[in-house]
Parts: sequence; structure tokens; C-alpha cells
Amino acid sequence: VARLLLVLGDQLSPDLSALRAGDKTRDVVVMAEVRDEGSYVPHHPKKIALILSAMRHFAEALTAEGWQVAYTRLDDPAATPSIVGELMRRAEEFGASEVIATQPGEWRLIEALSDAPLTVRQLPDDRFVCSLAEFDRWAEGRKELRMEYFYREMRRKTGLMMEGDQPAGGKWNFDHDNRKRAQADLLREGPLRFEPDAITQEVLDLVEARFGTHFGALRPFWFGVTRDAAAQAFDHFARHLLPGFGDTQDAMLEGDAFLHHSVISMYMNIGLLDPVDICARVVEEWKAGRVPINAAEGYIRQVIGWREYMRGIYFREGPDYVTRNALGHKRKLPAMFWGAKTRVNCVAHAVETTAKEAYAHHIQRLMVTGNFALLAGIDPGQVHEWYLAVYADAFEWVEAPNVIGMSQFADGGIIASKPYVSSGNYIDKMSDYCRSCAYSVKEKTGDNACPFNLLYWDFLIRNRDRFGRNPRMGPVYRTWDKMEASRRQAVLDGAARVLDDLDADRAI
Ligand code: FAD
Ligand code: SF4
Repeated sequence: VARLLLVLGDQLSPDLSALRAGDKTRDVVVMAEVRDEGSYVPHHPKKIALILSAMRHFAEALTAEGWQVAYTRLDDPAATPSIVGELMRRAEEFGASEVIATQPGEWRLIEALSDAPLTVRQLPDDRFVCSLAEFDRWAEGRKELRMEYFYREMRRKTGLMMEGDQPAGGKWNFDHDNRKRAQADLLREGPLRFEPDAITQEVLDLVEARFGTHFGALRPFWFGVTRDAAAQAFDHFARHLLPGFGDTQDAMLEGDAFLHHSVISMYMNIGLLDPVDICARVVEEWKAGRVPINAAEGYIRQVIGWREYMRGIYFREGPDYVTRNALGHKRKLPAMFWGAKTRVNCVAHAVETTAKEAYAHHIQRLMVTGNFALLAGIDPGQVHEWYLAVYADAFEWVEAPNVIGMSQFADGGIIASKPYVSSGNYIDKMSDYCRSCAYSVKEKTGDNACPFNLLYWDFLIRNRDRFGRNPRMGPVYRTWDKMEASRRQAVLDGAARVLDDLDADRAI
């Protein structure tokens, strides 16, 4: 009898464990564009279009390879609204009683499959360097789960940039070379852009009709939607942009949304690129002398270090991770996150790029929008839903640990040893945003003072019990204590005004 092989929208890899376990001569691949997946948070239209078009192209490729594919389109009148509904419908259609799946990247779907009224075997998703069991073994018994040590294990395991058991260049980490500002460069190549083909055009019309009211611009749509396109996009990055990746990794520029970033997380996360393959390509460029060691090492660290580490934490911490709120933050997400007018220039820019591209680079996510939400005490659950909705690369296994853990400190410090907070100074140092801002980054008190300057101290003071004894935060508290009392009061009054405005839904 036939078995059903489930392939989800972020599992578009020919070597997926569910496909490897299947048999072309008897099994049926089930792929479904279902309503529930498009709308449980208001996903950016570009993200939905990417996933649907890539699914349709992948289904075509599977069919060409001889698989029987039962594909449900979003506008199919017979379609049910959920993945489990579709599995039930197909089980009846093909007389199948067993489903082989690759474990989904979020607890919500893992649980739905586990509770489904048919037999579903969930195989490990092995498109990663580190299995979940291996991560747990690494984490077991450690007091702190520091990414840096995990990363070294992954370097040893893959042999990437290793000379025997020593790191190439004699150091594991060249980050101190990576803190430079960026210069505007009109000749800088951006990410490779693709023209939508007929399949993508059809998807774009469908997404416009169904999800056109969601936040974000659907067109122009330039993402690649096949493995070939994703490989070309990475090749383009490796040749033109990787050499400068390290130096400007933390920089932000008003007129340049992408700088030297690779803009491939969305391809990797839906299965169009393999993490080890792309790292091998980076090593090739470095060995050929075309890429400096700080760029190559920095890039590899993001992919086999941070990305794998985040996944390990998400699955180790369990389904309640997304509801954590260690600092008890309750404020609602301000309308400026959804594009409402604001004078906060850095946030306005990060949100504008997000709306236009379903993308913002790491430092915008961490030190602009994330920093603001944390300083202002926004409910981390709402912050999590925002990030999950608005980025093309957002899938819960990688989004939640970045938001709940790294950015909002809502997990109480599992990922970050101290909160990622800063005053306007840091943003001024790494960007050109402050120059054209209505607020003054130099002013620390008063109506014109940069809101980050005010909220930074308010955050530290209201959390003094928690962070006051953290040795790495001692110096900032000493700075506060040395300030004149009247100045301290003026800062806290200013912060209270900003927070009042947020509570009253007034634009800041
Ligand atoms: P590059 O800067 O070119 O980096 C190369 C690759 O490294 C990325 O493609 C990505 O796969 C990986 N990487 C880098 N940093 C991280 C990280 N912290 N965690 C995991 N992988 C990393 N990444 C996602 O893939 N999905 C998300 O939903 C997501 N949400 C985030 C939310 C917040 C608040 C923060 C601070 C970070 C988030 N990140 C997320 C991590 C990172 O910002 C993005 O991976 C990166 O911006 C993607 O752009 P890029 O491909 O140009 O990356
Ligand atoms: Fe952002 Fe403050 Fe700079 Fe304005 S002055 S861009 S609010 S950091």
C-alpha cells in the first residue's frame, strides 16, 4: 500500500529524510498550500509568495524525477485549511494509513502531527551540522551554553577552516576586525535579483488577492525560487560581497539595505541551500586568496555556529519557550513597527526596509528594533509574533531564540549573558541614521533627546536588582551613580514621557 510522504514549505530539499525513506514506485508525496499556515500570524506577502512559488517549483522537480506528487493549491475548492486536514484527505484518496514526515521546525506543527488521527512517523531533520541529540549532549551539565564553545565543536566536526585540530590562522574568532563603519558605495553589488517566471506571476496574483492586506510590499518580487537560483545568488555573494563581509558586518546605512550581507537566510531556511555546501564555498574563496580570513571565519561562524546553536536551544527549551517573559514586560507593540509615522529615524528606516524587502540585516534587527522593544518593555510575545510575520527567513526554530533569547532577554539569560541594550551612541557609531533624525543623539535629557538615551537608563534602573550584580554591567551602573541627582531625575522623567506617549498610542 501507498504511504504518504509529507513535504512542508520549508523542507524543499531533495535529500530530505522523508524522501530518502520513501519509495517512488509506491509512495505519494503530499505538498499543500494551506490557509492556516499563511495566516496564523500576518506573514509578509513576499514571504508567502516565496514559499508558495518555491513549493510549486519543487513539486515540478519531484514530478520530473518520477515521484507521484499530490499537490494542493491554496485556491483548490476541495482543500482543507490545515496540514493534518490535507493528510487525512490524501490518506483516504490513496488508501494510505501511514505518513512519513521530516520533523517540522516548530512545536506547533510537531504537536499537530503527533496528535493527528493517523500514524505519522516524524524523522529527524538532518539538514543541519548538529543533530538535536548531539546538541543536548553538548549542553548537558554545562552551567552556561556559550555559542563560542559550541561553534568550536562544529568547526572540529566539519573540519572547516581547521589545520589539524587547530583553527586556521591560529584563532577561532576574528571579530575584533569586524566593527567598522560602512561607506556609501553606489557601485556596491546588491543581492542577485531574479525576474518572476510564469509560476511566480501566478503565485503573486494569488497572494495579492488573499493576503494583500498584510503588512509589506509584495512587488517588486525578486527572490529566487529554485535551488539553481539560490545557488546563483550565493555564488554572486561569494564573488562580489563576501570579501567585505567581516569589516562592515555591524554597520548600517540609510541608502543601502544590504551592504555586504549575503541575503540567503530565506533560501537556506526553506531548504534551497545547504549550510555546509555554502561554507565549503566560502573556504574555497578564502584559500584562493580572494577573501580575507576575518570575512571567511565570520561568515562560517554565523552559519555553523549561530544558526545551529539557535536551533539547538529552541528544541532543547521546549514548546513554552515562545511564551517566556523573564523581565515581565507587558507594553503593547507600538504602531511604528507596522509602519506608522515616527520621528525615530533608525526605527523608521529598519521598518521601511522590512516592509519593502521582508528583510533587515542582523544589527537592524538586534540593535534598532529589538533594542527599542527591550528598552521600552514591550511584551516579548508580541515582539516574537512581529518578527515571525515580517521576515522572509522567519521560521520559529531560528526566529524565536533570536527574539525571545538573544534580543529580548525574555528567557532570563540562556542565550545572552547580558541584555543587548544600548543608548543612541552605539547606533550613531555604526550608522548614518542620526544625522537626519529629528531627535538629537548628543542630547541626554529634554524633549529633543534621543529616546534610546532616555530609555536605556530607565531600563537599567528598573532592572537594577537583576543586572546590578552582573560584573559586565557594573561600569554602567557606576556611571549612573556618579551622575548628578538632578540629571538622573531629568533622564527618568524624559523616559516616562516617552513611555506615556507609547501607552497613549501617540507617535514618538
Ligand atoms: P548574513 O549576515 O549574510 O549572515 C549569513 C548567514 O548566517 C545568514 O543567512 C543566517 O543563516 C546565519 N545567521 C547569522 N546570524 C544568525 C543568527 N543570529 N541566528 C541564526 N542564523 C544566523 N535569522 C533567520 O534566519 N530567521 C529569523 O527569523 C531571524 N530572526 C532574527 C530576529 C532577531 C531579533 C535577530 C537579532 C536576528 C534574527 N535572525 C534571524 C538572525 C539574522 O539576523 C539573520 O539570519 C540575517 O540577518 C539574515 O540575513 P543574511 O542572509 O543577509 O545574513
Ligand atoms: Fe535613532 Fe536616536 Fe539616532 Fe534618532 S538620534 S536615529 S532615535 S539613535
